[in-house]
Amino acid sequence: MAEQPAAWDAYVMEYARSKDQPWVDLISGMYKDGVMDLPFSFVLARRGDRIVLIDTGFIQHEGSFSQKFGIPTWVSPIRMLGEMGVTAEAVTDIFLTHAHFDHMGSVGEFPNARIYIQKSELLSWYEAIALPKRYAHLTAIIDPDNLRSALDASIQHRVTLIDGDKDNVLPGIHVRLGSGHTIGQQFVILDTRAGRRVISGDCVYSRMQITGRDGDGVYIPLNNAVGSVWEQIKTIDKMNDELGGDLSKLVILHDIERWKGHPVVKELEGFRVVKVG
Ligand SMILES: [Zn+2]
Repeated sequence: MAEQPAAWDAYVMEYARSKDQPWVDLISGMYKDGVMDLPFSFVLARRGDRIVLIDTGFIQHEGSFSQKFGIPTWVSPIRMLGEMGVTAEAVTDIFLTHAHFDHMGSVGEFPNARIYIQKSELLSWYEAIALPKRYAHLTAIIDPDNLRSALDASIQHRVTLIDGDKDNVLPGIHVRLGSGHTIGQQFVILDTRAGRRVISGDCVYSRMQITGRDGDGVYIPLNNAVGSVWEQIKTIDKMNDELGGDLSKLVILHDIERWKGHPVVKELEGFRVVKVG
């Protein structure tokens, strides 16, 4: 008999919100679309005794790296996990979509987790951070402490560097290289009880990047990216392929609609835990 596909329970964990952020900072061409309050999130996936995170959110305190971005509304990702009965020590695995501080910022809080990141993502940031200061635009969203945490975890043999697309990194969790927003961005495909889900990373901030302006089907690249438009468009197409064109399977981490259509299972200080699979 064929083995049953692994079925994960999956939750979006919202933990921060920006204020009056211009759309055009994020997505190309949105000069006339005004501002919005952008949600920040990561994903918790559970199956048996495995507790998996896709990204980790960031920690905010006086003098922390995140403060320079003026994100006014935040709750600790560790507290959000606590709402689900999960301690930082209990997290077994972390998939990092990329190394920006809002996705990797609390990676040092999980002492026992194995970390999965694209080799080209981690190594490109080691390279970029070593460049002369005139290159600093590249690393403006990179918290050097997160790279230190990744090195510490590497020394402890807790980091797996993935080289491109890989199925079943854990049963039912598949990664795809999605270069563009960053050099080694990856998006994650999760086989959940409710079917397949594609976790966007920052390959897209909006469904409109896939459906096109006014639904014309022309992919829209980011403004907030260090990789090329060419790579970004190819990544959006790769993601669309994995979705089979069904956007209901797409989970956008910065979803301005806050995962509409999925049940809210917890709420803490206005931040939601949403069951997406
Ligand atoms: Zn990012």
